[in-house]
Amino acid sequence: MKVFKFGGASVKDASALRNLAQIVATQGGKQELLLVVSAMGKTTNALEQVYGLAFTGQDFSTALDESRQYHLSIVNELFPKREHPVYERLEHLFSQLQQQLQSIQSRPHTQYDRNYDQVVSFGELISSVIVHYFLREQGIASAWVDSRKYIQTDNTWREARVDWAWTERVIKRDLPDLLQEQIIVTQGFLGGTNNGLATTLGREGSDFSAAIFAYSLDAEGLYIWKDVAGLLNADPKRFAHTVRYRELDYQETVEMAYYGASVIHPKTIKPLANKSIPLYVKSFLDPTAEGTKICDCRFEKLSPAYIVKDNQCLVSFSAKDFTFISEKNLGTIFNALSELRLKINLMQNSAISFSICTDYNEKRLKQLIETLQDQFSIHYNTELQLFTIKNYDNESIQEITKDKEVLLEQRTRTTFQVVCR
Ligand code: ASP
Ligand code: MG
Repeated sequence: MKVFKFGGASVKDASALRNLAQIVATQGGKQELLLVVSAMGKTTNALEQVYGLAFTGQDFSTALDESRQYHLSIVNELFPKREHPVYERLEHLFSQLQQQLQSIQSRPHTQYDRNYDQVVSFGELISSVIVHYFLREQGIASAWVDSRKYIQTDNTWREARVDWAWTERVIKRDLPDLLQEQIIVTQGFLGGTNNGLATTLGREGSDFSAAIFAYSLDAEGLYIWKDVAGLLNADPKRFAHTVRYRELDYQETVEMAYYGASVIHPKTIKPLANKSIPLYVKSFLDPTAEGTKICDCRFEKLSPAYIVKDNQCLVSFSAKDFTFISEKNLGTIFNALSELRLKINLMQNSAISFSICTDYNEKRLKQLIETLQDQFSIHYNTELQLFTIKNYDNESIQEITKDKEVLLEQRTRTTFQVVCR
């Protein structure tokens, strides 16, 4: 069997959905197929905003209605018969969502992360229902599966951790039989706790969901359909000249994702590598084109990969008593970072100070400073960029650092990183 993952851009409007159905019909072949879909277009961002209003006790009805209208306009175009069951399902989901939001609004400012998951998860529930009915409409037998019942997680809201054994067991128990008769359509990004609440796996987490299903079903391949030709060595929106990798090994891909290449969610690779399941990154605009294959393979020389992280913050700590930065000091700093879920993108130690580069998050940075200011003097710069070049050469370093003010630089044999303004 195969797993196909369709992200937000590939389900963003009626013509995108027609294209999806076409891909399923032509590329799915005669094999068993499970589809993992993201929320439509920019729905997750829109729901984050709606949620923000409800959470702070404000009126969310206009913002919610915008999202409802957006989905309805797609459905209107795809299902001309108004008595089609998709309309009832859609209205039902939106009324459940509205009830959630009302109850959040009536008790504002409580349990941000937990309630976030209960609200934002509707994006994928709605899109998967629409995709499911549309495939049926096209004569493709399809079953809708609720991934909250299959991807079992803990309650680390917004970044839930998967209970692999439980998840694999229930997927293997139920889905293979279902797959023999029809295509399965399920949601990316979502999991569920054992007391029936929705969780999310982190932004852009649908790739990871697809990998979880592929792993649990021992898929022959995972296909991620994107609006780019495959895995490129740089973001074409930022770099004029990009090259597509034809093949990459798992390790190389994990590293790129780790440094922030936004092509694939970083957690996607490990489950696939564990079972040697190849990952194909392909273009939904040109489905027969080759794309990129990620598998067990090794290369001598790869083109340099350029990865940019914006909105970075460089924080440096020095001990207030003028002592050197000791392992004990570092322990204190790391603990605080981990408590606040601040991730280190780069770090460097010197005699009297320790510096980290992290995604800028005003609230968490303030908390970090409050926690540590008794022991350390802390300075920081914001609005920085972190550039990573994997498999760098002199030319690529030159290209990145010219005309920039460099605040910190680091290199290993394969990787060059620089924090700039
Ligand atoms: N819809 C979610 C997001 O936008 C998950 C995903 O698309 O992968 O982050
Ligand atoms: Mg996406």
